[in-house]
Amino acid sequence: MKKLIIAIDGPAGAGKSTVARLVAERLGYTYIDTGAMYRAVTWDTVRRGIAVDDAEKVAAVARAINLQLTTVTGKTLVKVDDTDITDAIRTPEINRLVAEVSQNGGVREAMVHLQRQLAGLGGVVMDGRDIGTHVLPNADIKIFLTASIAERAHRRWLELTDKGFNVDLAELQEEIACRDKADCERAIAPLIQAADAVLVDTTYLTVAQAVETILQLCEEKSGVL
Ligand code: C5P
Repeated sequence: MKKLIIAIDGPAGAGKSTVARLVAERLGYTYIDTGAMYRAVTWDTVRRGIAVDDAEKVAAVARAINLQLTTVTGKTLVKVDDTDITDAIRTPEINRLVAEVSQNGGVREAMVHLQRQLAGLGGVVMDGRDIGTHVLPNADIKIFLTASIAERAHRRWLELTDKGFNVDLAELQEEIACRDKADCERAIAPLIQAADAVLVDTTYLTVAQAVETILQLCEEKSGVL
């Protein structure tokens, strides 16, 4: 049976990674979290003491990065040079800096090249901002996953509080709104719903319902289940 390429895009906190990982698990596909890739470049930039607005140096970091993504027991492990940075890329500092790094044309070129290689011959679920519009325009299924800003901020607040970070909900909402604005308004591959993407609003959906909605679309499209 044909192995599909499934692209899931949307703004921060819409539940993309959780939903995409579960869809991949159900189909026996590989899950690729492209946000983690931009976060890893941001982490490596900070580690090397390079300013995120130093375009040349940040692009060089992206071109040279030794990045490994693996999914182990329901979690994507992210490593750079064998250092596990899975948690280190999800801190408030990285949240604040990542949108600027991901506006860098050299960074995007290097990441898109890797992403297309990873998508290979199919059997993948890839999530991000520009997957359906730019990275994999021929994807078999394109989903634009969203939710209200209040709901997305609340989800991120729960996630960070759970990890022990002391974060203010209103500040978090402001930070997400800023990141969305930067992602939507950037010159290269901005966040936008592809013309042929299906909109899935998760504001009032549980994770399980969002997963089922997407699997149903896959089934309708190509009988994969
Ligand atoms: O999905 P996540 O919130 O982890 O993404 C972090 C950031 O990485 C986004 O805010 C965006 O700036 C960038 N990104 C991107 N293109 C992608 C995936 C993520 O620019 N395909």
